[in-house]
Amino acid sequence: MRIDVFSIFPEYLAALDLSLIGKARQDGLLDVRVRDLRDFTDDRHRTVDDTPYGGGAGMVMKPEPWAQALGTALDGAAEEGARPTLIVPSPAGEVFTQQTAYELAAEDHLVFACGRYEGIDERVLEWAGEHFDVRPMSLGDYVLNGGEVAVLAMVEAIGRLVPGVVGNPESLVEESHSDGLLEYPVYTKPSQWRERPIPEVLLSGNHAKIARFRRDEQLRRTSERRPDLIARLDPSTLDKADKAT
Ligand code: SAM
Repeated sequence: MRIDVFSIFPEYLAALDLSLIGKARQDGLLDVRVRDLRDFTDDRHRTVDDTPYGGGAGMVMKPEPWAQALGTALDGAAEEGARPTLIVPSPAGEVFTQQTAYELAAEDHLVFACGRYEGIDERVLEWAGEHFDVRPMSLGDYVLNGGEVAVLAMVEAIGRLVPGVVGNPESLVEESHSDGLLEYPVYTKPSQWRERPIPEVLLSGNHAKIARFRRDEQLRRTSERRPDLIARLDPSTLDKADKAT
């Protein structure tokens, strides 16, 4: 998968060299290209922002550097008849979820445009719609200073679903949000720690009982912490014992 990221703080994205995503880059599974938006300016001060039309606080990102930058992510795309997906982090976007991560992990080419200040001139998104599938995307209902942190989170969530990036694919199956529920609590050695034993069933060796215990814990935890997820569950995914829980 190719991933282009444009930002005025490319150093922010250095974390994409670390851990599993960094290894996936080395292994050629992810082709991540981070570019400085200021490289696409043509004035001495490398200006990327200007005052907002209509007045108001803050600055707005100028359209032309964005068009120049995004144009470089299209190299070869038109000939191949491809439309890369352009993700524009924004608190005014659709909320990024695990479902979105699954959808985007199936794409060949993602482009991320990190906004700063009051955001990007809206006409960039209109223009980009001629060449990209444009998706303004929010990390959640709060405001960050820029899109970089959102891109780090999204690239990690998407990248780890690309086949081969996480060594054991089974570890992706039993995670929070993979089945609409939060994950069950996990424990490791020692079995007694500061007078706290682990739940006995985990030592029983009885796989059916352990699976039932974990499923009950998922349901309990999700009801307590995220009743909104329980309300959204498809009832046909629940078995008899689930309903009793
Ligand atoms: N004026 C914008 C608004 O109210 O919608 C907020 C601009 S914010 C200070 C600057 C940049 O941070 C945005 O352009 C976006 O790239 C990023 N950002 C802020 N909050 C975000 C969120 N919840 N999700 C994704 N990106 C966010």
